[in-house]
Amino acid sequence: MSDSQLRLSFEFFPAKTAEGKEKLIKVRDELNFFNPDFFSVTYGAGGSTRDNTKGLVTKFKADGISTAPHLSFGGDDDDSIKQLIQEYKDAGVDRIVALRGDMPSGVGGGMQLVYANELVAFIRKHFGEHFHLEVAAYPEIHPQAKSYSDDVRYLKGKFDAGANSAITQYFFNPDAYFFFIDQCHKAGITQPIFPGIMPIINYKNLIRFSDACGAEIPRWLRKALENYGDDEASLKAFGVELISELCETLLENDAPGLHFYTMNQTEPTAQIVRNLGLIPVE
Ligand code: FAD
Repeated sequence: MSDSQLRLSFEFFPAKTAEGKEKLIKVRDELNFFNPDFFSVTYGAGGSTRDNTKGLVTKFKADGISTAPHLSFGGDDDDSIKQLIQEYKDAGVDRIVALRGDMPSGVGGGMQLVYANELVAFIRKHFGEHFHLEVAAYPEIHPQAKSYSDDVRYLKGKFDAGANSAITQYFFNPDAYFFFIDQCHKAGITQPIFPGIMPIINYKNLIRFSDACGAEIPRWLRKALENYGDDEASLKAFGVELISELCETLLENDAPGLHFYTMNQTEPTAQIVRNLGLIPVE
């Protein structure tokens, strides 16, 4: 990155259509201006975007851009996951976001989810230290976790299995992140935990997303967002200000970097990064 040790990364989800893919390359090039450490590309529940994720990651790599696929076992067996990881390695990929993932909707009891610590151990067993392994962390606690301490313990388990760093679920309350980091330190976690940042783009989608993944939208924020009704431009402007302040607070208090859930859009992520002064030096 530009003038500091801060790590910056941008997340995309794979586009389905040729037009979507073309648009994504344009967004990537615009965000690449900020000289991020890497881009990442999500993996649909149950491996449903296997080919699209792989296609996008290998295209980005071929264009000389550091890119990490998200990966989970989904419904795959050891051999097919090993083959997919080998293909990534052959394409020059050196970082993976290793996840348990979720059950795709409509799938019955036949599919067994594989915990992320097991995927981390699997990758280390078969590929040694080749990959930098990222895992997911939840400052507001994973919705299925039995308790706060269990969730922290399982995060520690992912590091013990060989993960190098974690990226968090998004949150709007910085205290949730700071408290979580304290609890992680107390549990003996020393690896960096990068906050995941969700720009505010669309009220309804944000509510739907947040309810599904257990990210809390504080009452005051929900009410403030409701106030904008259909006025998307004002909502976005408010969101840019709010999220820029959140990022500033995080960085002032030693967050090691930022990971943006870009929603495949240049703005508002680019404006937030500009507000933070994270512009590469010529
Ligand atoms: P795990 O770490 O395996 O944890 C899952 C649950 O089980 C937690 O409640 C935990 O407390 C518990 N647990 C963990 N280990 C054990 C164990 N060994 N024994 C018993 N219980 C355990 N989803 C996608 O579908 N595609 C993506 O690309 C994607 N990218 C993501 C990126 C980030 C940065 C984040 C934060 C989330 C992402 N997700 C993605 C969502 C994620 O897949 C879900 O939150 C999923 O429910 C949990 O995945 P995990 O890797 O955190 O699971």
